[in-house]
Parts: sequence; C-alpha cells; structure tokens
Amino acid sequence: MAESIPFTDLGLLAREVWPEIRQPFLQALLSGCYVGGDAVTDFETAWAAYCGVSHAVGVGNGTDAIELTLEAIGVGAGDEVVVPANTFVATAEAVVRAGAVPRFADVDDATLLLTAETLEPAITPRTAAVIVVHLYGQMPDMDALDRVVRRAGVPLVEDAAQAHGATWNGRRAGSFGVAGCFSFYPGKNLGAFGDAGAVVTRDAVLAERVRTLANHGRVGGSAHYEHALVGTNSRLDALQAIVLSAKLAHNERWTEARIALADEYAQRLAGSPVRLVVRNPAARNVYHLLVARTADRDRVRARLAGQGIDTGVHYPTPCHLQPAFARFAAEPLPVAERAAGEVLSLPLFPHMTDEHVMRVCDVLDAVTGEDRDELVDA
Ligand SMILES: *Cc1c(COP(=O)(O)O)cnc(C)c1O
Repeated sequence: MAESIPFTDLGLLAREVWPEIRQPFLQALLSGCYVGGDAVTDFETAWAAYCGVSHAVGVGNGTDAIELTLEAIGVGAGDEVVVPANTFVATAEAVVRAGAVPRFADVDDATLLLTAETLEPAITPRTAAVIVVHLYGQMPDMDALDRVVRRAGVPLVEDAAQAHGATWNGRRAGSFGVAGCFSFYPGKNLGAFGDAGAVVTRDAVLAERVRTLANHGRVGGSAHYEHALVGTNSRLDALQAIVLSAKLAHNERWTEARIALADEYAQRLAGSPVRLVVRNPAARNVYHLLVARTADRDRVRARLAGQGIDTGVHYPTPCHLQPAFARFAAEPLPVAERAAGEVLSLPLFPHMTDEHVMRVCDVLDAVTGEDRDELVDA
C-alpha cells in the first residue's frame, strides 16, 4: 500500500525548532523561573506586534483567554453572549463559565462563518457581547459585523484560536475587537508543547485586568499576597513561551506553505462534487483546517482511511445540539446543522507535499467517480 498521510505532523515542527530552543530551555530550567518572567514578557511583546496591537497577555489556554476577556469586560450573570453554532465548543463553554448565557447564531452557507445576516436575529436586549470565531483560519466580513455590533452598542470579542496571522483587508486577527483570544494548543497553527493561550488588545486597562484575573487577582503582576479581585490561575509558562517565540519566527513561512497547499487542493478539486469551503478574497485564510463538504461524508472518509489517509470532522455536532448546551438552544439553525453532516477536514500541514495533495485528491476522485457510475447503472 502507498505511504500513509497523517492529518497533521507536529513532530516535524518540533524537529525544526529544537536546535533553537534547546539552549534557552536549559537556561530557563537552571534559572528556576518557570512561570512568567522574561521569556513570557518577550513572547508577549512579539505576539502583540505580530497581531498589530499594543498588548498581549499570556494565559493558560484559549478557553481561559475567552472567559477572562468576558469577565474583564464585565460580562456575567443575566447577560447573553452571541456565539456561532459552528465552532469548537470552547467558545460557548467560556461564556457559561463566565456566568452568562450563550445565544447561538447560524452561519453563512459558503464560508460557515458568522455574518451580519446571521448575527442580527440573535441579538436581543440582553446581549452583552458578540464573539466572532475566525473558524478554520478565515475571518468573516469584519466591516459588516462591526456595523451590527456598533448599532447594538455591544463589544465584539474575537475567538482567533484558529486564525494566527489571518487578516481581513490586510488587518490581523485579534486587532478588530475589544480583544482577540488565541489558543496555542499544540495542534493550532502556532502551537506550544502543551496548553497555552493569550489575550491581545489595544486597551491597556483591559490588558491589565486580564493579567490580574489570570494571576489570582493580584494587581501589578508579581507574586505578592494582596488580592484585589477573585481571579484564577491561568498563566503562561516560561518553557512554553520559549517554544512559542521560536516557532513565531517560522510562522509566516509555515503559513505560506499551508496557503500554497490549499491552493493546490483548490485547483485539483475544481469541478469536483467535493466542494471546499469558500474563500473570501478580502480575507487571508491561514488554513488552520482545510474543510471540504460532501453529502456522503462518512463513506468518503472511510474510503480515505482505507487508503491510509487521515481526516477529521470539525465539527460533527453543532454546539447548540450538544447535550451540555441544548438547554441554551432557542431555535433550529439549519445551515450549521446541515454542514455538520457534510464537513470533512482533509490533511494539511506545512511539511505536506504536493504529491500528498495529489494522492488525497485521486482517492476523492475515485470515490466520487463511483457515485457517478452508480447513477449511470441505476
Ligand atoms: C482550540 C479552540 C479554542 C480553545 O482553545 P484551548 O487552548 O484548547 O482552550 C477555542 N475556540 C476555538 C475556535 C478553538 O479552535
């Protein structure tokens, strides 16, 4: 059988950066400074600059980044926060953890993202914030969303966990809302060697408030025993910050490799019944995931698996139909519900080759070709 194709290969990324991090790793270990410190501050400075904002606060993970942001802007009990139904469950989870109620909005059929049209009906007098998710690596029409939230008079928070380096009209993810929330979970485009996250913002007061909440309510960031707020423990480790700083220096090259592979897929699959999620020309899609849609998803997926090709489904159940969140579901959301049965994430990672793409597409052609033959036979 031909060589198998993994869904992603994080080991190859680690192999590339290891020579650059082994020395700083050893220094950090010997220094005894493992949580916070210069390595964290250096990464925060670099990450804020990359996102085109003035402040970044390293936190424990992306879910905390969202929850802490909501708390810091005063969202809590009695409030509703609009979230798209098609997202990783953490977006809605953070809303509930912050004490508020998620209000699910449907998504656009072409991009599977929130749009002004799908957002508007989800806004109510209780709406206290809107979370836009740049799902799969693509930002939605931020100008149109901005008009809706301005009219509603509520803050926009960006869940940019899948959108490191994505742009809308040249402006980076994380720089549009009151804050941008990032995850550096290992599998994200910029991933640590464990859990990590960050909140980015132009607002110095908001940044300081997130930092305080993330560090047991301590004002000023150090390890003293004066606690002004009831916070939590969600801080970035020095070792993770070292990995992230090293990987950040490679991130544009890795992102361009993802985009080139996605272009290759798009050309190869033009006219195929396996349709890729539509790319908006005003957006720089950083292709955290390359998502296709096909009516016969489970069979196509099984056939790829039979050829040693690993795929994913993001996500098989929309948030509002998850057992944990069904009590917040107000009405059916037909686009998200239909997409959940059709989406199929194809292998895509920076070290993948064009030959890999061709093999995946050859198998897709063979499976969908059989469909056509069956129709002719019938
Ligand atoms: C990964 C992810 C999160 C959560 O990030 P963690 O670091 O895993 O907590 C939130 N939202 C989206 C869209 C994600 O993909």
